[in-house]
Amino acid sequence: MIGKKQNSRIENFDIFIIGGGVNGAGILRDAAGRGIKAGLAEMNDFGSATSSASTKLFHGGLRYLETYQFRLVKEALAERDILLNLMPHISWPLKFVLPHKKGLRPYWILRIALYIYDFLARNSKLPKSVGLNLDEDISGKYLKDVSKKALQYSDCWVEDSRLVFLNVKDAINKGASAFSYSQVTKIIKEEKNWLVTIKGKKGNFKVRAPIIINAVGHWIEEFKEIFGEPVKSGSVRLVKGSHIVVKKIFDHDKAYILQGEDGRIIFCIPYEGSFTLIGTTEVEHRIGNQINCSNEEKEYLCNFASKYFKKKVSTKDIVWEYSGVRALHENKNIKAKDASRDYFLDLERINKISCLSVYGGKITAYRKLSEKVVSKISKTLGLKTSEWTSTESLPGGDFRLSEKREIIDKLIKNYPFLTRSWAERLFKTFGTQTNTVIGSAKNLKDMGRKFGSDLTEKEVNWFLENEYVYTVEDLIWRRTKIGLRLSKQEIKALDLYIKKRLKKRS
Ligand SMILES: Cc1cc2nc3c(=O)[nH]c(=O)nc-3n(C[C@H](O)[C@H](O)[C@H](O)COP(=O)(O)OP(=O)(O)OC[C@H]3O[C@@H](n4cnc5c(N)ncnc54)[C@H](O)[C@@H]3O)c2cc1C
Repeated sequence: MIGKKQNSRIENFDIFIIGGGVNGAGILRDAAGRGIKAGLAEMNDFGSATSSASTKLFHGGLRYLETYQFRLVKEALAERDILLNLMPHISWPLKFVLPHKKGLRPYWILRIALYIYDFLARNSKLPKSVGLNLDEDISGKYLKDVSKKALQYSDCWVEDSRLVFLNVKDAINKGASAFSYSQVTKIIKEEKNWLVTIKGKKGNFKVRAPIIINAVGHWIEEFKEIFGEPVKSGSVRLVKGSHIVVKKIFDHDKAYILQGEDGRIIFCIPYEGSFTLIGTTEVEHRIGNQINCSNEEKEYLCNFASKYFKKKVSTKDIVWEYSGVRALHENKNIKAKDASRDYFLDLERINKISCLSVYGGKITAYRKLSEKVVSKISKTLGLKTSEWTSTESLPGGDFRLSEKREIIDKLIKNYPFLTRSWAERLFKTFGTQTNTVIGSAKNLKDMGRKFGSDLTEKEVNWFLENEYVYTVEDLIWRRTKIGLRLSKQEIKALDLYIKKRLKKRS
């Protein structure tokens, strides 16, 4: 449990959130900042479901223009710029190259789409779209001779699982409580409250709140079952999406957006220095199906990329893969790729108590969604509160993007034993709090045991003591992506170390 000490007394909250993905975490932070007593339970690690399995973009969603979702794109483009300002350590601008391919969408349609994209983002500080000659631009060097023409536009990258954690952490700093590895198993209606039973790491415990927020993502059907009281519940369409990671297939810092003959697009994005991230797929998902990247999806992504890149991508090149499930608001008459990515909020009042459900959405929309949710529930609670999250940075993000290089240079000056790539990795994890993590270390020895790559005991202990890490996976795949650089033996040794430290602590 995080926040305050867990005990047998039933703690009362103003709101209690079920689900610690990006939406639950965002709502927790927003509510805590408005002085609302908020709690959250997440059945696994924070951000361990869809919110760590995304393409990791703060984007307007260029392709949603094809389905005329102008409001969604406009709102997302505005959010993209707000979010970049709030967290320039975990988010940064990214240029996308869109090669034109004969027989697919005509060049003039792509050009018009990007004019609209630029127009909807007219107040943005990111560069506007431009045409590219692939014979001259570095991006053309790695492509087969599909076309000489391409377009380039900008969106932003975001470290998705870190985004979730930093929202939880900031919420706790503001007085909220958050319980990871704690599953809500029963919700019973009392006269003025919901009584919530939670199965935690050390046994069951209960909390009370007059408002429940359902932010369970794609666990909607399971959520209905834990309610003693029948709740009206919207229906969602479940669509799985997978990504693969391969050793880098191009050597520059732009990403590609590639069109397929099936009308879909995929992204190929520079990832973690030496890798390329390729995704995503869209496969209808049923409850009970495994959430993993099937052989078919791997083949699909490799073949798709190989149609464009000189270097053939084969399933043997895959070093890591991940999958997540989108819970899209239901419309059975349209294809998965065209289903709306917009979000819907459904506030249900049952006598004096309420349940607010969140359906659909994007990582890009999480802050705005959270703001709307907390404004709605403030009214329900009879509280006068003000919106605040569009200007207050996440922990470690209190600097301007233009200062990043200078701050990293200073870090290397203060800690000469750091290599540039190590300093950059630490900075993109902790931002301006990197100094606090390294503390008074004067040399490599002071950083303690090395676990592989540039992961040291000092950093591991920080995660254990400050970032609620309970398993090796929490550390190597969600607080960091160091798993890509550790051998199986190194992961095993780190796992043992974590278990020992946690045992000592309990
Ligand atoms: C392949 C893919 C790519 C995407 N790419 C992008 C992108 O690039 N940009 C973008 O903006 N969006 C993207 N999205 C969308 C985005 O990832 C989702 O909209 C967002 O992560 C949903 O967050 P969430 O909090 O609603 O759900 P989740 O992250 O799934 O969180 C729900 C949480 O609820 C918990 N939970 C469920 N039941 C219980 C219970 N009984 N007790 C306690 N906890 C419970 C789960 O463990 C889970 O952690 C993508 C989605 C997919 C699938």
